[in-house]
Amino acid sequence: MSQFSFVIPGEVVLGAGVVNKLAEIGKSYGSKAYLCMDPFLEISGVGSEIEGLLKKDGVDIVKFTKVKPNPSCHDIDEGADLCRKEKCDFMVAVGGGSAIDTAKAIAILAINPGNSWEYIARSDREFRTFSESLPLIAVPTTAGTGTEVTHYSVISNPDIHEKGCIHNKVLVPDFALVDPELMVSKPPKLTAYTGIDAMCHSLESFLNVNSTPFPDMIALESVSLVARYLPEAVANGTNIVAREKMAYASTLGGVAIALAGTILPHGLGQPVSGLVDMPHGASMAASLGHIMEISYTSNIEKFARLAECFGEPLDGLSTYAKAEMSVEFVQRLLKDTGAEVTFGEYGLTEADLEKTAEIAVNNYSFDLNNSPLKVSKEEIIEIYRNCL
Ligand code: NAD
Repeated sequence: MSQFSFVIPGEVVLGAGVVNKLAEIGKSYGSKAYLCMDPFLEISGVGSEIEGLLKKDGVDIVKFTKVKPNPSCHDIDEGADLCRKEKCDFMVAVGGGSAIDTAKAIAILAINPGNSWEYIARSDREFRTFSESLPLIAVPTTAGTGTEVTHYSVISNPDIHEKGCIHNKVLVPDFALVDPELMVSKPPKLTAYTGIDAMCHSLESFLNVNSTPFPDMIALESVSLVARYLPEAVANGTNIVAREKMAYASTLGGVAIALAGTILPHGLGQPVSGLVDMPHGASMAASLGHIMEISYTSNIEKFARLAECFGEPLDGLSTYAKAEMSVEFVQRLLKDTGAEVTFGEYGLTEADLEKTAEIAVNNYSFDLNNSPLKVSKEEIIEIYRNCL
């Protein structure tokens, strides 16, 4: 076995009802919380329960709910102005990946200069670095991104129609309260897209050419859970066991990408998501089946291992046939959960393909380079065309 290392900072508490620990954990960070919350929580009433939990223990709240899917750098900068003015002690983020990533970026700007886009890592210009951010408690309400355990904040710039990522180990939330009860309200389509995102994280980190045994182990547990429980979570959203297993799978997927990184589906999906404002999970679902189909021969053993984790009947099959089964399984899962989608449905057109492929090559080279299947810009355009 070659050398490898791993660090998992941040504490995770997982299970039905764990959100009730918010006050106890929060007050250890100070008396003024910046609550960054998805606006759907205001409508559902869950938001006021969460505010009540914090206030009950004497914590003052500054609330920010201007959170949109694919969060805009301008909204984040507005949220940061408020946080700087109010001098909050710590952040609480409640919502999907967009709310948590918004809070992560505000946590940086609260104690560092500049605006959020200046911190996005890009190869075409200098970017700001930092070594501290405000403490953050993350409470995810979707099961997909795993951002509650990653060191990434993914934000969008509507001026140039691109997404970008800030990465720094201090961005890993200090606490993640992963409560499946907060996820039962997700409608089937959102459950499917976010669940496929969790599947992508785990598949991609496992297939990443730089993967190592520890994230592999985590990723394989995650893919098994998604394979088994996503259809039920979509079909019966109030099944708390299915929600809990999906929540766990998502957190594991976050740990896996934080340790091993993503590959082609993210490298190609993120540029589209930025360009046409496509939901993140949908932008993964659009190409996952096709990418698996054209990639499985690049690492037959690993794809065969995936088929075993999917619980497919494999007795007597060759490694090659098992690898083929893994592709069929994922394509069936996309179909059965209603996650089948095309980039075209969200507005990507033939005229966008050259530019989108350019963004993938320039800004997502790490995803492309770490994929077992190497693709040129022309081949990326062809993949996009197949998934249009
Ligand atoms: P989201 O946060 O964008 O939310 C999508 C929609 O779901 C919103 O309309 C929201 O109001 C709604 N919603 C959230 N929770 C709900 C619930 N319990 N019930 C009903 N509706 C609910 O979706 P997401 O997929 O969780 O996050 C996507 C974002 O996360 C993207 O910006 C993506 O790039 C980012 N991301 C970040 C990381 C990371 O490690 N930082 C990893 C993957 C993705």
